[in-house]
Amino acid sequence: MARYRDSACRLCRREGLKLFLKGDRCYTEKCSFERRGFAPGEHGQLRKKPSDYGVQLREKQKLKRMFGLLERQFSGYFEKAERQKGVAGTNLLLFLERRLDNMVFRMGFANSRNEARQLIRHNHFLVSGKPVNIPSYLLNAGDAVEIREKSRTVERILEAMETVARRGVPQWLDVDKKNFRASVKMLPTREELTMPVNEQLVVELYSK
Ligand code: SF4
Repeated sequence: MARYRDSACRLCRREGLKLFLKGDRCYTEKCSFERRGFAPGEHGQLRKKPSDYGVQLREKQKLKRMFGLLERQFSGYFEKAERQKGVAGTNLLLFLERRLDNMVFRMGFANSRNEARQLIRHNHFLVSGKPVNIPSYLLNAGDAVEIREKSRTVERILEAMETVARRGVPQWLDVDKKNFRASVKMLPTREELTMPVNEQLVVELYSK
């Protein structure tokens, strides 16, 4: 499957905010955005007023990059979100949020969504009792994610479980660290999704 192979830190600098794509490093002084918080490239430090289109595009790129998706996957979610009842922007955020790789990250079993994706592909998790190795698998309220017995000594997972406190676990998830298990109590409302994104701008961009 195609994936982005360039520097993850460039993406944060391009979007002008920390997207927390590299796990531990994002919380240290090694974070590139802390050291060089301007856009990459020769003209990165020039300030010019973006057009309306530019603002919408940046908002879409920010969201897409936060979840580590490529354009095709992302626009696919938008099409589904538009077809569903309700507000398209909120539906889009919910689709992204329900992805297994995001949930594993939110639950604190991985330090970044990227790491979560790798761990899922390596078969370290059960979803409601069944092995699932598809990062885009969508979870529903009531679903539980469990670390497989053989994977409970994997250092990367244990380390993530130790350090999750610094970013916190959302209240709509229930984490049972002792039993290496977490469940989705309910799907979040828009207010509970604290990501710094104006999804309405993304809807406007795709509706042109
Ligand atoms: Fe972004 Fe993390 Fe790199 Fe900092 S270390 S620029 S937050 S990916």
